[in-house]
Amino acid sequence: MIEPIEHAADILSKAKSAVALTGAGISVESGIPPFRGKGGLWEKIDPMKVAHIDAFLDDPETVWKLLIKDMKTLLDTARPNPGHIGLVDLERLGILKTVITQNVDGLHQMAGNSDVIEFHGNFAWQSCLDCNQSIKTSQVDLTQMPPRCSCGGILRPDCVFFGEMIPHDALIRSQRVSAACDAMLVIGTSALVQPAATMPLIAKDNGAVIIEINPEPTPLTSRISDLPLLGGAGSIMPRLLKAIRRRRPST
Ligand code: NAD
Ligand code: ZN
Repeated sequence: MIEPIEHAADILSKAKSAVALTGAGISVESGIPPFRGKGGLWEKIDPMKVAHIDAFLDDPETVWKLLIKDMKTLLDTARPNPGHIGLVDLERLGILKTVITQNVDGLHQMAGNSDVIEFHGNFAWQSCLDCNQSIKTSQVDLTQMPPRCSCGGILRPDCVFFGEMIPHDALIRSQRVSAACDAMLVIGTSALVQPAATMPLIAKDNGAVIIEINPEPTPLTSRISDLPLLGGAGSIMPRLLKAIRRRRPST
């Protein structure tokens, strides 16, 4: 029987408009813990108490202290890992067109992918709740909690909290590229957060092959994924790229 990774390499080496849907798992090997799964933040805190927009607006100081401050410290030094690099290599081979990411860490852009849809916004910028001015997260003064804008208003990251809408353009473009792709790589997502988790369904309904990379099974694994590759993105992606390059010796 042909190994799943070889089979995935067969599919991808012929693909012309592949899309990746990534989640927190692809950044685990960059030192950023996911929400769910082993070692996830939710083992320690209740998502609806800290990552919901109502919780933030009720008590921004607590949400900054429990969630946002630590995220900033982690993201200040995080660097792309071989999982992110593999997606850049796939783009350079002319196979991958777009990355739809649920992550807010900016690591796909740092790695070098040119078309990244930030489905849940990003952590690079903060907005003032009062005057709406934007400030770079790297310039936020963490000595006062919650951090404030020069006008005195409280700052919030430009990420989508639970209870908030997905940015309209990100949603529409994600649906469009998912419907048009010939293969979708679903990497490091628990596929439990909607509407991001519908993208593989849209892709499959329109004829794409679904290749999933995750060390644990997800709700997609048995029903939707054509080729589940069990393992961490940082080890599977380099193996997959090696198998693809063997099939395309000139590249
Ligand atoms: P999730 O936290 O719900 O699930 C993480 C998934 O990654 C799990 O299925 C886990 O088995 C898998 N995983 C763990 N290690 C992996 C590895 N080495 N390689 C591949 N997969 C691995 O993640 P989600 O589905 O993205 O949903 C959580 C939400 O939290 C997202 O919307 C995102 O905005 C946010 N979030 C983002 C970051 C980030 O930006 N890095 C970090 C935490 C949470
Ligand atoms: Zn302000």
